[in-house]
Amino acid sequence: MALARPAATAQQPEPLERVAIALGSNLGDSRTTLELALKALERCEGVRLIRRSSWYRSAPIGPVQPHFINGCALLEVSLAPEALLEVLQATEHRFGRRRAERWGPRTLDLDLILFGTQRIATERLEVPHPRMAERAFVLVPLAEIAANWIDPVSGRSVAELAAALAEDLKGGEALAALEPEGPQSGRKRSGMAQLF
Ligand code: AMP
Repeated sequence: MALARPAATAQQPEPLERVAIALGSNLGDSRTTLELALKALERCEGVRLIRRSSWYRSAPIGPVQPHFINGCALLEVSLAPEALLEVLQATEHRFGRRRAERWGPRTLDLDLILFGTQRIATERLEVPHPRMAERAFVLVPLAEIAANWIDPVSGRSVAELAAALAEDLKGGEALAALEPEGPQSGRKRSGMAQLF
């Protein structure tokens, strides 16, 4: 019989894990919201910001709505996965996110993409994020900061997943449509230039 992992206690905290999250916004001043969200996460107990990608502009999926600004960040956390999900959801809420239409516009969307090498499937949480391999707006910024991270489901690195997406007709279109956003956009195309 498999033994459940014992809950962390004050004497026995959760082990440190490297985590990848994706950030997105398409309502209000998205750039500012995303910057403030990263600052808010940095201040949360048990969360340390290690690296962040540049921001990208992506076409929306689903109903007609403004373009999204997207990016990814690497965190080091001493929280259990569901506790981190709660921190992410509380941060979304703090920045005005109200859960309404699926795929609809949002002031802030925070997704948990990878949690160390763990595979998690509970009622509230699926990790690796089930749609990471089909989303250019996740893979391109993630490849900037964690190209060699191996997705424990496919056994492929983030860079390999991004390259595979480029081979796919729709994925290739989404990759081509992804634009660097903001001050870095005058520079050499960052994540995509390194990948292709
Ligand atoms: P969304 O509206 O796309 O932000 O989806 C949020 C819902 O997806 C919440 O009910 C979460 O409990 C659930 N969920 C499942 N897996 C994940 C994940 N890896 N990251 C974020 N939310 C998740």
